[in-house]
Amino acid sequence: MARLDIHMFPALWDNYCFLIHDEESGLTGVIDTPEVPAIETALRDTGWTLTHILNTHHHPDHAGGNLELKQKTGCTVVGPREEADRIPGIETQISDGDVYEFGPHRLQVIDVGGHTLGQIAYWCEESGVVFVGDALFALGCGRMFEGTPTQMWQSLQRLMALPDDTLVYCAHEYTQKNAQFALTIEPQNKILVKRSAEIDDLRAKDLATVPTTIGLEKATNPFLRPMSPDIQKTLAMTGAPVVDVFAEIRRRRDRF
Ligand code: ZN
Ligand code: FE
Repeated sequence: MARLDIHMFPALWDNYCFLIHDEESGLTGVIDTPEVPAIETALRDTGWTLTHILNTHHHPDHAGGNLELKQKTGCTVVGPREEADRIPGIETQISDGDVYEFGPHRLQVIDVGGHTLGQIAYWCEESGVVFVGDALFALGCGRMFEGTPTQMWQSLQRLMALPDDTLVYCAHEYTQKNAQFALTIEPQNKILVKRSAEIDDLRAKDLATVPTTIGLEKATNPFLRPMSPDIQKTLAMTGAPVVDVFAEIRRRRDRF
């Protein structure tokens, strides 16, 4: 089976948006709807016709374009059951463990609540990609607007369980600031130091740092590394419960 075609493009100020396309069936989905004109331009650029909106969570920079796009194209709106009352135009409600069949592509739904309570990720195992919304970022994770550290940490662990080479499509370009913060948490991490320099380089050329991979995040993202002895030492939390260390990293990032 062919892999899912993916077209990534910027929207609003620092969002990324993604078209997914199956050549054989002609299906085209958009992962979240930050901004209608940017999505329409992307559809024109690719020549694809929108058939689906696949929402990760209810925030306006993710579901704000739902109704206009649905009205213009007649596309189907798919989104998280736990946030159905806040997802405009939702028809198909899905939740953790469901498989949404996008033509021949199986999109496995993973609960990644914490940034919002009912946020979901879409994992296509066969294509080796996961769309994580605002749950996980390159070197960061979403702010916990609605959930608790325990919920968020469980969500991130579900993503950490995916194969290392899985491409991670996250919804914002926050990586450079995240890298600066990550270096305050784990300055001795050589892979992180090297990656941070690469990120500075990419951003100086106005290039995207997304997608990343699960393996690279596990090696460098402080939010996935609260079990690291070096990090625990830096935070003066050696031997503390891992979820408490995670919560402290999140608190520090909120103030950074
Ligand atoms: Zn959000
Ligand atoms: Fe967002």
